[in-house]
Amino acid sequence: MPSFDFDLFVIGGGSGGVRSARVAASLGKKVGIAEEYRYGGTCVIRGCVPKKLFVYASQYSEHFEDAAGYGWTVGESTFDWKKLIAAKDKEIARLEGLYRKGLDNAKAEILDTRAELVDAHTVKLLKTGQTVTAETIVVATGGRPNLHTALPGHEFCISSNEAFHLEELPKSILIAGGGYIAVEFANIFHGLGVETTLIYRGAEILSRFDQDLRKGLHEAMEEKGIHILCQDIISSVEKVDGGLTVRTKNDKVLRVDTVMLALGRTPNTENLGLQAAGVATNEHGAVIVDAYSRTSVPNIYALGDVTDRVQLTPVAIHEAMCFIETVYKNNPTRPDHDLIPTAVFSQPEIGTVGLTEEDAAKRYPELEVYRAQFRPMKATLSGHIEKMIMKLIVNAADRKVVGAHILGHDAGEMAQLLGISVKAGCTKDDFDRTMAVHPTAAEELVTMYSPSYRIRNGERV
Ligand code: NDP
Repeated sequence: MPSFDFDLFVIGGGSGGVRSARVAASLGKKVGIAEEYRYGGTCVIRGCVPKKLFVYASQYSEHFEDAAGYGWTVGESTFDWKKLIAAKDKEIARLEGLYRKGLDNAKAEILDTRAELVDAHTVKLLKTGQTVTAETIVVATGGRPNLHTALPGHEFCISSNEAFHLEELPKSILIAGGGYIAVEFANIFHGLGVETTLIYRGAEILSRFDQDLRKGLHEAMEEKGIHILCQDIISSVEKVDGGLTVRTKNDKVLRVDTVMLALGRTPNTENLGLQAAGVATNEHGAVIVDAYSRTSVPNIYALGDVTDRVQLTPVAIHEAMCFIETVYKNNPTRPDHDLIPTAVFSQPEIGTVGLTEEDAAKRYPELEVYRAQFRPMKATLSGHIEKMIMKLIVNAADRKVVGAHILGHDAGEMAQLLGISVKAGCTKDDFDRTMAVHPTAAEELVTMYSPSYRIRNGERV
């Protein structure tokens, strides 16, 4: 048996990397972990966590408006962007500290350096030039925003990375993309008082979500005053008189302070020594893995966004825990990517689990669709024009709920709980015999007794 410096060496200190390193170390393995930027990864440092803090900040403008209907007179309000950034940075630093502490407590060796593979068992630490060896290696280097370098003027645009550190809040912003990040940031910036426009290439935003929610959210965003341009893309960005002039494929010309590109993310696999080690990547540069997160090199595994699977923090963490079971607990465990609940933190929110109506119609010959659209109670006195949509997609053959979709306040929180029922294979009858919690919006989920319509062989009947 050759001897190695480490039992496990992890490259990348994000959600998947830290979890695998910490748990392996707590099992008594000798673990090293290297991170070139900050521990916590995209989620903690420049993703989910600071984003959610921004979402909370941006909701206050609407809370102040709503308050009047409930008898409150709210004095003049002002917003201080720098104060928000400072508070957010403090919280992120605290969380980063917790990540480091967790690793430290488990006795993993924390290395603040970029690390690259030299061969299947050797890693070079760039800060010192030192090489170390490991029996098993995990690549968990995550991804980064696609900078869209083919776009003339892309160098004047920002990505979500910069959005977390802008010196000043812009007066106007154009956000390109129709996915999670574009939609969430459009709502954030609008809520903070920025004149916001979203430009998306497709016919409707959020292409992977249920059509009803996509339309419902689009309408709600436009009602608030967010401009949405569909079926168009930016063709150039120029810096003119301290602002930006944007031309689009449909010959629109827009003047904005800031352009943010949210056009998907690219895996961080360049110059990582993957080729030298024999680790195969796909045409998008993502590390190819088998069902157990094992790469083309048997002792090298890859977790999280660096692979081409589902780019979500809980998924990376789950993949890390499956890696631990497989490699260190003699219990080969495949990550389960089926029925992942997810939320878009737009305003109103989207919460969803399972198949969209469109996808379910392709898979099952007959569906029952239960759909409720209503004005949430809070909006009655606040006077807000907003509607909530709830939808259950049921396979008529066995009555299983195969998709559940919500647009409205706290949809993300509801999606987490719905995720349990749908994952457990609950039927519509299980929903029907569950007592409602009254008065809540969520009670609609258990009180939709007859189908709003059916889909038979792909046709609505
Ligand atoms: P998404 O994949 O969600 O969206 C990318 C968007 O960019 C899509 O609308 C896509 O259009 C569009 N696009 C891609 N390439 C081009 C192009 N060349 N020209 C014009 N438009 C283009 O990625 P995001 O960057 O928004 O987010 C990355 C990932 O991070 C998400 O997939 C998600 O998994 C995760 N995330 C999760 C969040 C959450 O859980 N709440 C929040 C933020 C991110 P089309 O749809 O037509 O392909």
